[in-house]
Amino acid sequence: MEKSTSRQSRKKVVAVVGGGLVGALNACFFAKRGFDVELFESREDIRRAKIVKGRSINLALSHRGRQALKHVGLEEKIVAKGIPMHARMIHSLNGKQSPIPYGRKGQVSLTNFCNIFPLTAAETYPNTKMNFDHKLQDWNAETGLMTFARLDGSKEQVKTDLIVGCDGAFSAVRKQFLRRSRFDYSQTYIPHGYMELTMLPINGEFAMKPNYLHIWPRNTFMMIALPNLDKTFTCTLFMPFEDFEKITTGDEVIEFFQKYFPDTIPLIGADTLQRDYFRLPAQAMVSVKCNPYHIGDACVLMGDAAHAVVPFYGQGMNAGFEDCIVFDEIMDQFNEDFSAVLPEYTRVRVPDDHAIADLAMYNYIEMRAHVNSKWFLFRKYVDNI
Ligand code: FAD
Repeated sequence: MEKSTSRQSRKKVVAVVGGGLVGALNACFFAKRGFDVELFESREDIRRAKIVKGRSINLALSHRGRQALKHVGLEEKIVAKGIPMHARMIHSLNGKQSPIPYGRKGQVSLTNFCNIFPLTAAETYPNTKMNFDHKLQDWNAETGLMTFARLDGSKEQVKTDLIVGCDGAFSAVRKQFLRRSRFDYSQTYIPHGYMELTMLPINGEFAMKPNYLHIWPRNTFMMIALPNLDKTFTCTLFMPFEDFEKITTGDEVIEFFQKYFPDTIPLIGADTLQRDYFRLPAQAMVSVKCNPYHIGDACVLMGDAAHAVVPFYGQGMNAGFEDCIVFDEIMDQFNEDFSAVLPEYTRVRVPDDHAIADLAMYNYIEMRAHVNSKWFLFRKYVDNI
């Protein structure tokens, strides 16, 4: 049964669709400005969920993202909950480890970062309402009416003054853009996939030095490991899908690791490795570019919904956070007049986000082009994250 909700308020109402990293942070930005904010997230509240579905990648937070967090008073809280990484640690095939410090100040990255902090921060604003278990099914670009599906099969219709699409790389908000004339859109899947493996603590301590981003560059493969607060490391293996698919048995997993990442076998554990490798299939990585980011004065895209990038520049989330702060600055410039703010946001932001997407893809292509160079291959990636 459809339920229609008419929300009457003297203040303008902003719907943020997607309660991921960028959506939750955006809710804080709009709430801080005094708008009534309704956040709609398709999943249940991850802070209360027993099982969190989907990927659990650790993310490196850089200067770009920190600036946006600072603006809503979140930087210190999040930085305090993460683990600073002062340098990258390169693992050679023979087990030698070589640190490469981060050059620029403020480039210290943090891990163990997830969207519970922005979500909790958004909730502290009395003018913000969280609507979990609300999956946007469709919306009407002419009327602005959104239809959400609930887990119990019911539907809810909502209309607000502005829709902010932060619903990720496969955005439902963006679907309406695709039906419009003069909307540029492209998406590219790369031949590499990624897989997460966990390195547990050994005798209650981190299995490797914690304040580093550990990197194993291996021609067309690469593994990285980021530390977590619970003293585990999340290892992410990047590899062409065809190579993932060649490994079909536990023995082949060990053989592969013995050949390319021998120092990690005693650290992860042969049994864990054999089990975790087959737990989930390797995940795909997609690059999405589009233009414009807005429809009239009614809807705007931010974060991965506007620009999913391949992770070889380590800036996807950081760029999404930067979207929030750029939009906020334009709101000041144009006195919160959506009809002026939205086109200006597209004008200013599209070239920058496209540049980040290009840099990320360039790094990836560069890596692939230098398959025969022992060290150069992932050098670009190493230089940038
Ligand atoms: P998402 O995190 O995808 O959140 C979208 C939210 O919308 C989700 O909560 C989803 O449930 C919800 N949603 C989806 N559809 C609907 C719907 N129809 N209705 C309502 N809600 C909906 N970036 C970095 O900056 N640094 C890194 O080190 C880094 N490492 C990465 C490593 C890997 C392997 C990958 C794949 C990505 C990495 N990234 C990194 C990129 C980063 O993960 C993304 O840029 C970031 O998560 C985007 O956040 P988002 O909020 O825009 O989208």
